[in-house]
Amino acid sequence: HADAAMYQAKGAGRNRTHFFSPDLLASIESRHRLVGQLRAALRDDAFTLHYQPKVNAATRELTGVEALLRWTLPDGQAVSPAEFIPVAEESGLIVPLGGWVLREACAQARAWQLALGRAVPVAVNISGLQFTQADFVEQVRAALEGAQLDPHLLELEITESMLVTQPQQASDRLRSLRDLGVRLSIDDFGTGFSSLSYLKLFPVDMLKIDRAFVQDVTTDRNDVAIVEAVIGIGQALNLQVLAEGVETPQQVQTLLNLGCAAMQGYHFARPMPAAQAQAWLTDWPGANDSGR
Ligand code: C2E
Ligand code: MG
Ligand code: MG
Ligand code: MG
Repeated sequence: HADAAMYQAKGAGRNRTHFFSPDLLASIESRHRLVGQLRAALRDDAFTLHYQPKVNAATRELTGVEALLRWTLPDGQAVSPAEFIPVAEESGLIVPLGGWVLREACAQARAWQLALGRAVPVAVNISGLQFTQADFVEQVRAALEGAQLDPHLLELEITESMLVTQPQQASDRLRSLRDLGVRLSIDDFGTGFSSLSYLKLFPVDMLKIDRAFVQDVTTDRNDVAIVEAVIGIGQALNLQVLAEGVETPQQVQTLLNLGCAAMQGYHFARPMPAAQAQAWLTDWPGANDSGR
């Protein structure tokens, strides 16, 4: 492989070899290998979804679950989404992979609705490339129909960066999704570059405050100010606000004091395989949250 890449580099322009440092070459190689492994995993159905609950910490009400992609290599080694999602995005594989996630999450939500006798809204993370596919809205509609899932029980999580490049186009697309009846939220809110004036252009239902601002909210006054500001934006624009990555009782209390009751994080539950999530959903809200 190394030889091949070096050869190509030379062929591409007589004296270009020096652009390919050993490190870069290694990373190109490992990316290339990862793409091959991703393609094989897609073919072999090797992906699974884990589900992390979202709760209202004031009422203890379960408000839904977020589907998170998991991938384990044949040798048993788990690869983090932070590592493989960017590669899946660059290689275009995120399109079929994201389609699978949509169908699987819708089917699971429907299965839980039937098994538990109550609605379990499911949130699915959408990648930029997926969102801009011409047939994305149709993909979502088909996934809902295939699973016989009420569109109100599907939430799509998008990020600011997906909205800012072509705001008008993105806004139209969000409107079509809204017309289907699905709910929309902005993930990792505060870490992107969206101008506040865009927010009113986008018909979204929820802002998810990024974990980066939640982590030190009990000690860092700047984080308090940011969380307060996002809550203010939510109130002004009539959007729900959820805090991500809540890990401690102190964070829960601070966020409640600030007026943010919707939360998600290890304090309540980690992302869990479907069977374990179902057991958790069955127990909740019977048990108290100590040790969760
Ligand atoms: P995200 O959508 O912002 O998801 C939250 C991430 O934080 C998840 O990491 C979750 O496991 C983790 N998390 C939740 N609560 C806590 C907590 O209390 N403390 C800490 N330290 N972490 C917490 P994960 O599962 O590794 O996913 C990382 C990112 O990968 C996601 O961030 C999302 O952007 C992306 N991703 C995951 N699944 C999918 C998918 O199906 N499609 C797409 N396009 N992206 C996905
Ligand atoms: Mg998310
Ligand atoms: Mg997030
Ligand atoms: Mg994220």
